[in-house]
Amino acid sequence: MPPKKKTVKNAYYFFMEKYRDDRNRKNPNNPISIKDAASLCSPLWQAMSPEEKKVYEDIAKKEKLRIKGMEVKFTTTGLIVSDVERKEREHQEYVRSMKEEIRNMVVELNLTDLLERKFYFIHVNHFCHCDNGDYIPAEVGVACFSLKCGVDDFYHSMVAPGNLPIGYTYKAQKHSTETHGIPIPPSEIGENDFVKLFMDIYGFVKKGSVGEGKPIVFTLNEFEPCVSIFLEKISNAAGYEAKQFKVYDFVTLFFELRNKAASFSGSEGFPVYCLAETEIETDSFAYTKEICCYWHEGSEAPQYCSLSRARRWGFHIADHCSRDLDVTLIPGRHLPSTDKYWNDTPVETYYMPRHSRKKAANKAVPSGDASSVASSSSFQPLRQPKSMGVAVSQVLSKEDGPPSLDSDAFPPIGRRIGANFNRAS
Ligand SMILES: [Zn+2]
Repeated sequence: MPPKKKTVKNAYYFFMEKYRDDRNRKNPNNPISIKDAASLCSPLWQAMSPEEKKVYEDIAKKEKLRIKGMEVKFTTTGLIVSDVERKEREHQEYVRSMKEEIRNMVVELNLTDLLERKFYFIHVNHFCHCDNGDYIPAEVGVACFSLKCGVDDFYHSMVAPGNLPIGYTYKAQKHSTETHGIPIPPSEIGENDFVKLFMDIYGFVKKGSVGEGKPIVFTLNEFEPCVSIFLEKISNAAGYEAKQFKVYDFVTLFFELRNKAASFSGSEGFPVYCLAETEIETDSFAYTKEICCYWHEGSEAPQYCSLSRARRWGFHIADHCSRDLDVTLIPGRHLPSTDKYWNDTPVETYYMPRHSRKKAANKAVPSGDASSVASSSSFQPLRQPKSMGVAVSQVLSKEDGPPSLDSDAFPPIGRRIGANFNRAS
């Protein structure tokens, strides 16, 4: 007689076992069998979330491997090594196809489409990053950018996420103090209606997006988890199971746009991705005050504002691509409109190679004075735009000083879509 084949228990079976054991422990005088548990567990199992079921699915998976006689290796945190490796492979494949999609998106554009195509940049500030991977959102900023018009529209809102998870008050306060400075919950600042946040952001991004699929938003790699989780939360709130946005790498877009622009003028683009990355890391427009939200405008840390981050990524692209495409720069949209930025531009400094400009910039900044370093950071000669020649001749045709912003084209942030939060007094 052949040996009896071992039955492989499934996730539901392990749930029933646990239910039976828990119940029998509480009622030792009236124990139930696994058969009794089966009828009681069915509705409970149906009502469980995918995360709750996953606990039992993992147990079943481990058991299946054990029966198969395979040696299962675990990481130090108790995860199955083969699972971790598979996820890593899937992630690499995802990154590869995302980069290819961005490349195709840019490479196919003719000059007119390249200038007019709208791209959306997003940043989300958080109060804390929880041990389970969750992020508690604090602020969201989205910038709409095209090479022709710069950042000509944006969305911003503070977010009121409800109470912080228990035990995270200190962490949230510390993170806030060290970065964005937004008062931690429960404060009255921000939008607490996540359905409204979804409708506003989806509507804003979808408006200028091409195609029928999910709209694409770009952010830096380091912010992707927080952005993705936030977008998933608001999508869920609006009744969708998965997030209704594609979150793509901003640096890849920057890299591709720079090279595409260079292909029109025959100039040198970015030979490698990491150069684009380094350029973004310099974050040279960080101290541009005029591009942050109403709340951060009066704060000591405007550089952490989500809106400022999203808008200045547009400045980086304009800085590197406008000259090749002969774009007329618009102050405040392609580059900071700050008076000093558009004046005091030593032409010889501008035409210096970048490393020499950096030395010149370092000399120009007096050392030991923190406030002057901060206030001069956005005006370093190093950072004069590559298209300054075009800008000066076409935009500053008047001799009477810097261009002023038209108040209709640039209404105060407080009047913009979504910026209906209350400012802290
Ligand atoms: Zn802000």
